[in-house]
Amino acid sequence: MLEIRNLHVKLEDEDKPILKGVNLTVPAGEVHAIMGPNGSGKSTTSYVLSGRDGYVVTQGSATLDGQDLLEMAPEDRAAAGLFLAFQYPVEIPGVGNMTFLRTAMNAQRKSRGEPELSAGDFLKLVREKAKALQIDAEMLKRPVNVGFSGGEKKRNEILQMAMLEPRMCILDETDSGLDVDAMRLVAEGVNALRSPDRAFLVITHYQRLLDHIRPDVVHIMHDGRIVKSGGPDLALEVENNGYADILAEVAADA
Ligand code: ADP
Ligand code: MG
Ligand code: MG
Repeated sequence: MLEIRNLHVKLEDEDKPILKGVNLTVPAGEVHAIMGPNGSGKSTTSYVLSGRDGYVVTQGSATLDGQDLLEMAPEDRAAAGLFLAFQYPVEIPGVGNMTFLRTAMNAQRKSRGEPELSAGDFLKLVREKAKALQIDAEMLKRPVNVGFSGGEKKRNEILQMAMLEPRMCILDETDSGLDVDAMRLVAEGVNALRSPDRAFLVITHYQRLLDHIRPDVVHIMHDGRIVKSGGPDLALEVENNGYADILAEVAADA
């Protein structure tokens, strides 16, 4: 589903490369995790996939179901089924959370040639999904993320994901700053969406989220590349021994 080949990326106004040849394949139905020390390029990878300004791809490719993502406008990437939950969710003053969700859903339905959801159907759906994430009605009425706590923002991102039902979901450190209960809610939200025709890329600094969202494959990113991939046990190895041993082993093999 998601295929990243030899991706090289630098900042627009600097020559220093950040991604130095990322290779990653995430098949439909699977959950992959990317772990790695701070500054290794995890967020940059998600930004580039989402089409954020300021990054220049100097080499390589990224496709979703064979479509060239890097050529697409950010909104077309979303319409193609890509969803990103960011480490720092943006606040949108003046736009009510429900209005935002409904607009996003209807834009997506329009791009698929489906009719708009009726106000009643939308309300029923959003209430049901919000309840599962313990998001109260008051939060649904407030401007998007404005004044939300860190945990509320993260749960709100999972609500967006649950409403839009994207095919490829990328979560960038959606666990950071969450207490144990909020993390469990986020994980349950993700697990509820797991399906044979949907894939997840879960970027996390810590192993604890992966206790709740069991990944099929764990990748370790370091210095702009994926340097090691393995099963869920790789996350436990990181938890127990840190990155030093793994990185030393990779360096010795190189
Ligand atoms: P991670 O998410 O793995 O912690 P990032 O992708 O955020 O890593 O960052 C990778 C490297 O690129 C870091 O050295 C970071 O400082 C640098 N970097 C990324 N984006 C920017 C930016 N917009 N301006 C300056 N440096 C950046
Ligand atoms: Mg970081
Ligand atoms: Mg990051």
